[in-house]
Order: sequence, then C-alpha cells, then structure tokens
Amino acid sequence: MNHKAILRALPAALVTALCSTPALAGEVEVLHWWTSGGEALSAAELQRMLEEQGHTWKDFAVAGGGGESAMTVLKSRVVSGNPPTAAQIKGPAIQEWGDEGVLATLDQTAEEGNWDQLLPQVVSEVMKYDGSYVAVPVNVHRVNWMWANPEIFDKAGAQVPSNWEEFETAAQKIQEAGFVPLAHGGQPWQDATTFEMIVLSEGADFYQRAFVELDPEALDSQQMVEAFETLRMLQQYTDEGAAGRDWNLATSMVINDRAAMQLMGDWAKGEFVAADQQAEEDFLCVPAPGTQGAYLFNIDSFVMFDMAGDGAQAAQRDLAKTIMSPEFQKIFNLNKGSIPARTDVAMDEFDPCGKASAEDFQQAADNDTLLPSMAHGMAVKSAVQGAIYDTVTGFYNSDISPEAAAEQLARAVQANNY
Ligand code: BGC
Repeated sequence: MNHKAILRALPAALVTALCSTPALAGEVEVLHWWTSGGEALSAAELQRMLEEQGHTWKDFAVAGGGGESAMTVLKSRVVSGNPPTAAQIKGPAIQEWGDEGVLATLDQTAEEGNWDQLLPQVVSEVMKYDGSYVAVPVNVHRVNWMWANPEIFDKAGAQVPSNWEEFETAAQKIQEAGFVPLAHGGQPWQDATTFEMIVLSEGADFYQRAFVELDPEALDSQQMVEAFETLRMLQQYTDEGAAGRDWNLATSMVINDRAAMQLMGDWAKGEFVAADQQAEEDFLCVPAPGTQGAYLFNIDSFVMFDMAGDGAQAAQRDLAKTIMSPEFQKIFNLNKGSIPARTDVAMDEFDPCGKASAEDFQQAADNDTLLPSMAHGMAVKSAVQGAIYDTVTGFYNSDISPEAAAEQLARAVQANNY
C-alpha cells in the first residue's frame, strides 16, 4: 500500500494526529528579552504553538528592556560556536549578523507563505539580507506614544497635552495635586526612547536628517539644542526613584495611580492589558506631544542561525511559519501591545490604541512620516546607536548645557559611523 492508501484506510482522528505531528521534531532554543508581565504572556503563545507541533522549546530569556543585555549574551554564544536556534534581532543589526555569515535563509518558507505579498515593503526590506529572507517579523510596535492615567488628570484638573508647552502646564498641576507627572526609568535606552520622541516633535524631516541620515548639521543644530532643553524640562517632572528603574515598573506607576504619564512604545500597553485595564477607561493612549501624524516604528523579528541536522532545520521552518500565521500574529499582538506585521489580519478584536496604530501606520506611510526608531535599533548601526545612547544619558545625568550636548552628539556619531 502506498502512503496515500494507508491514510485512506485509517480513522479520520488518527490521520489528523499523524499529520499534525511533524515528521521531524526538534528543539528550538529561542533567545529573547521578553520578561515583563505582558511580554512573557506574549512569548508563551509562541512556545505553546510550537510545542503543539511536537517541538521542544528551550527558553533563552535574557532580562533587560530594549535588549542590550540579550545582544551581549548572544554575541558570546555565537563567538563560541554555539548559537541558539533563533534569536530576537531586528533592524540594521540583521545586516550586521548577515555579514558574519551565520544566518540561515528562510526563502523557501517565505515563498511558500507568500511573505512578499503579505508584508508591507518597509517591513520585508528589513527582513532580507542580500535579497534573501533571513528574519521573520512578529509585529510592528509604535514608539511615539504617551500613556496617561485619566483619573489623575481629572483630580489635578489638567488636560492631556498635545505639545510640550501643554505638557509643562499639565505637569505642574499634577505635581501640585501630589502625583508624579512623568513615570520614567533612568536607563540609557529609556532616556534615548524619550529623547527620540522629542526629536520627532521637532519635525519628521528633522528626525529623518538627524537620526536616519546622521547629517552633522542636523545633529549639531538649534533644533537639537531645543530637543535637549525639552529633555531637561521633562526631567524636572520625574520622581527621585527614576534612576535605574525598569520600564515596566514605570508603567506600573501609571497603572497604580502614582504617576500621570509615561512616554513609551506600545509594549507598555501589554502591561496595562496584563493588569486587566481597559483602553479609554483605565488608561489613555495618545501620540507623544508634538508627534501627531508621525509614526516611529519598531519591528520585532527573529533570525534563525545556520544549524546542522534535519530536526533543527525542520523546527526552524515551523517556527518561521508559526510566527507568520494569522492566528499567531493576532493573539501575540493582542497581548504584546503591538499590531500584526501582516496586513491581512483583521483588527476588530484590537482595542482603540491598536486600531489607531494600524490606521496611523498606513497614513504615515502615505505621508512620508513613517520613520524607523533609532532607540530601538531600526535606524542606525549598533555602534552609532550606542554613541547616541551615551551622549543622551551623559546629558541626562550631568549638568552639561544643551549646546554642548548637541555638539557632542554630532562628534560622537561621526566618530562611530564607519
Ligand atoms: C522591543 C519590545 C520590548 C521592549 C522592552 C523593545 O526594543 O522591541 O519587544 O517589549 O524593547 O523590552
């Protein structure tokens, strides 16, 4: 009997069971940095779906928002010839890893799954090295959001701000009412996240020139001086415990009615959702002051490392396929706070923040105001990003002048842009 005939002779339930168990089961060791409440729930969905297909999930989570620590650990694993099966890597860093010649191509899976048709070009471009797919996207995060606690605004008699002047007026009232105006975590990547929103508020063109094209005249300009001045202003409205605080603990301050606002990408929404809070009731999402109409994107993706062994390769193909499946893209992003990378996933189960993100993404793409996040590794090489982090954090933690900081920024970027 050939195998089709055997299948015909078997009871239907057994056939389903046989077909859903992969011919080759493998272990997938997945490096990521999703350790906060909302992040862990999202990562668990991927684990569940992979295990349902018979593979074994070996969790390789390295805590640390923004992923700096995860990247350091990853480098040492790859250098010692022992890479994980897959790793959360994004943006231009995908190209840097591609240059090392250690990535597996996903072209066959991408072709079978029609990825070129299903992904916006701005997403698929990032996933390719030398024309071949080497990464698979899980989502699109919007970075330039402000999260607000409506009850505190009410109690303080303040208006949710749409520019920095209004921010200052509201922050003063909130402070007088006894609340922390701005929840912040003083870590380099969080300082840089806040700062890039301020730079964006100086104009999408300006952001593009400064943080994408790295134009020295934009980096050391009057507008950049103003951006540093705004950062100083914001700093006055953070609390004393901000130094070193993790981003999700800052989000908790907004959730627990201690702080009125947080400037953070929409992974923060994952924390509100995990705490059973409802958008537009318990919390508000508005574009960061002065950034309406612009969209700073941050796409999470996984690369697969070149692996010997059929089991490992089959597991990698299944991981890539699962990540791109509409079921995963929906459930993962409902938990994570982001929107699906695929454009054909229905948004009706998403909350108003998710719906707004999807609409604004499209609109920003049409208006040329869709921009890659510098702070989240989408715009520049890691050395340049590190130089910008150092300058911004150095400014935040010292009393150097905004003029000196802008000058330093231009110099540091130039020295690291090789
Ligand atoms: C990642 C998010 C993550 C956030 C905080 C960002 O760079 O893209 O997925 O939730 O960092 O760790």
